[in-house]
Amino acid sequence: MILILDAKTDKQGADYRRLLDYLANLPGIRYRIHQEQGALQVLTEVYLVGDTASLSLENMRELPCVERVVRVSEEYRILGRHRDDTRPNGFVYNGIQFDQDNLNLFPGLCAVDNPSHVESMLRALHKHRISCTRMGAYKPRTSPYAFQGHGRACLNYVFELSGKYGIKVIAMEITHDKHLDEIREALLETGSPTGVMLQIGTRNTQNFELLKIVGRQTDFPVLIKRGFGITLDESLNAAEYLASEGNSHVIFGLRGMKSNSGDPHRNMVDFAHVPVVKRLTRMPVCIDPSHSVGTRAASPDGLLDILHATCQGVIAGANMVLVDFHPDPAKALVDGPQALLLEELPRFLEEVAIARQAYQQRLEIARRYTS
Ligand code: PEP
Ligand code: MN
Repeated sequence: MILILDAKTDKQGADYRRLLDYLANLPGIRYRIHQEQGALQVLTEVYLVGDTASLSLENMRELPCVERVVRVSEEYRILGRHRDDTRPNGFVYNGIQFDQDNLNLFPGLCAVDNPSHVESMLRALHKHRISCTRMGAYKPRTSPYAFQGHGRACLNYVFELSGKYGIKVIAMEITHDKHLDEIREALLETGSPTGVMLQIGTRNTQNFELLKIVGRQTDFPVLIKRGFGITLDESLNAAEYLASEGNSHVIFGLRGMKSNSGDPHRNMVDFAHVPVVKRLTRMPVCIDPSHSVGTRAASPDGLLDILHATCQGVIAGANMVLVDFHPDPAKALVDGPQALLLEELPRFLEEVAIARQAYQQRLEIARRYTS
């Protein structure tokens, strides 16, 4: 059960104290307080867990400071959609809005290799007025002998160059809690010229200790990728771990499922689940066509498979696209064969715009048929 408090609640006041005393004395119930930064105000939500079935909605509504009460199902308590749940979805980070209605593009390098490639990439984004990117510094690799990413050593120049080209948010995977400290340190050293969205990769979707650590901080939003070999429900529960620890600024990423059924693509594209995740949860949904498709192959009509998959995700209502580009894929240290070329950026943007417009037209049709 969630109690949404009146925005004018005085945290030092007697009413607030009375509410917390009352909740503390409910048998078999624990509570946890979440602050949710809305567009205009900070909303306070109190999550009640335990034997909440015994509580009546009417009684809880009568408690001091309580404006609304939502009874949540057992699933995805914080991030899920529940009946009578009008809590807003989405958040703003470093000036960029993320929600289930809009679309943000994150074209960038799978892995940072050198400052010159980073700069070429960012210059191209700047030219096309794109203010988000992906830059991998910590790379989880199948082989222990493969390049593992430059890690801390590249962060300062990545952040400085991002600031120079007006990048507001960099999606960057971390695989260990010390990477979080390193990112904080590099931002501090460079004067925070940009923002970072922490990425939990598919290999770490169920690394619960990492999820708890990342969930306990609220400085950075989190993109969590779906686990490539587990059910959607298991991956959504993994996302809920982040929120249950305190960080509900979470985006859910589809990146294809490991299965030979997807051959010759790297993974089985699962973008038909974009609307499913939006129905089950309030998280914005990201698609990663690069790691799904894994090849620059084109069909006889001349369209690249990665662009087909991108459009499939966008026409289904995706809210974010994480996509690999590289100025010189032959020299890329990771995933060169799936990188789009910088010259293909305008083409990518044109296709995304068409797919997005088609999605919006589909919404119009839906409105016509349901009104
Ligand atoms: C990535 O985005 O660089 C990546 C490794 O993705 P995934 O975790 O989906 O394999
Ligand atoms: Mn990659």
